[in-house]
Amino acid sequence: MKISMISEHASPLAVLGGADAGGQNVHVAELALALGRRGDEVTVYTRRDAAELDDRVPLGPGVEVVNVTAGPAEPVERDRMLPHMVALAEGVAADWAERGAPELVHSHFWMSGLAALDAVARTEARTGARVPTVHTFHALGSVKRRHQGAADTSPAERVWLEPRVGREADAIIATCTDEVNELSALGIDGAKTTVIPCGVDLDRFAARGQRALRFVRPTVAVVGRIVPRKGTDLVISALAELADRGVDDVDLIVVGGPDAAGSGLLADAEIARLAEIACALGVGDRVRFLGRVPQQELPAVLRSVDAVVCTPWYEPFGIVPLEAMACGVPVVAAAVGGLQDTVVDGVTGLHVPPRDPAAIADALGRLLPDARRRAALGRAGRARVESEYTWTSVADRTAAVYRRLIENVARPLAGAGRGR
Ligand code: UDP
Repeated sequence: MKISMISEHASPLAVLGGADAGGQNVHVAELALALGRRGDEVTVYTRRDAAELDDRVPLGPGVEVVNVTAGPAEPVERDRMLPHMVALAEGVAADWAERGAPELVHSHFWMSGLAALDAVARTEARTGARVPTVHTFHALGSVKRRHQGAADTSPAERVWLEPRVGREADAIIATCTDEVNELSALGIDGAKTTVIPCGVDLDRFAARGQRALRFVRPTVAVVGRIVPRKGTDLVISALAELADRGVDDVDLIVVGGPDAAGSGLLADAEIARLAEIACALGVGDRVRFLGRVPQQELPAVLRSVDAVVCTPWYEPFGIVPLEAMACGVPVVAAAVGGLQDTVVDGVTGLHVPPRDPAAIADALGRLLPDARRRAALGRAGRARVESEYTWTSVADRTAAVYRRLIENVARPLAGAGRGR
């Protein structure tokens, strides 16, 4: 199949771990590469965020990334990108006009959905042929608003434009079952939604291999973009709670954020806020901020810790728990969003209620002294990702959705095919 993807802010080529580059970048890159390995041809369109980027960059066999000029050729915050979506659609449609339209377009995040629908309409007006559309939201404005309230900086138009993308796309791929309920609350027809999770690179994230760090005390890790909604402060509070209960030897490493400068200092407002909280709670010396770790070095860090803690306020999917499970490390996870599907309570980790430091402390208090339990949970985690979350199976399931749409929705060129 000849497939286009649009991922306006999340380039598969971006550096991971900063404020705006995380799971979506991984998802788009790995899905495209896995489709390429199947023999599909994938072009990923993204917004050019630096003048020196080549127009077309090969990502792997059968996969290329196209940097479309849409707005200034410099980083633009995700929440300020909406005005550039018309230019992105124009660029995509122009590329299709020059090189031939794809059999299907798969958009990622609501603004890319707008650009996809726009590019499809332009192409249909030009050729009469209709390119089918699949959309993956990755995150929903309705959920973000519920949790972030006034701190949500999404453009006001998201409230009505995002559901429109859901209504107008031919099919939706949701990444977890919780999202299906959220979509139906937005009035999006469940019949056109298929749940296909994200995957994890099982070769990179292996249970066996070197450990990057050696710890003398029990140590847990939080990994991800350093933003308030990831709930790192809850884990710091849990450490203080454990100390109050007399367990004062647990260390926390926090991975993500900016690269450590030459001095080793991390210039980041959110890290400064978290460090202040840790000091105020008397656990300042228990928490270490490592900054961004390149993904290829992450497995050796994950294998070094006794547990990974993922306790976001909400989580559309959450690839980090899969990465921990793939490394054979148990996960303490808030029972929210995708973490309810991926982490099996009592089997691959422990669930805790959202925003509940005492519950995190309880879970760690049970898990950390029990090496046999941790090993059993880690083994079960590895087995689970091997059976459910390979990118190959994610790509096969996604390709089946594409195939169905190409056969049923695509309208051929006037005068061509199907006896016209
Ligand atoms: N990541 C990384 N280095 C870091 C922090 C994060 O490579 O220092 C990667 C991590 O391995 C994962 C992704 O960023 O693949 C985060 O994805 P997730 O779905 O957990 O969270 P999101 O960023 O989408 O909210």
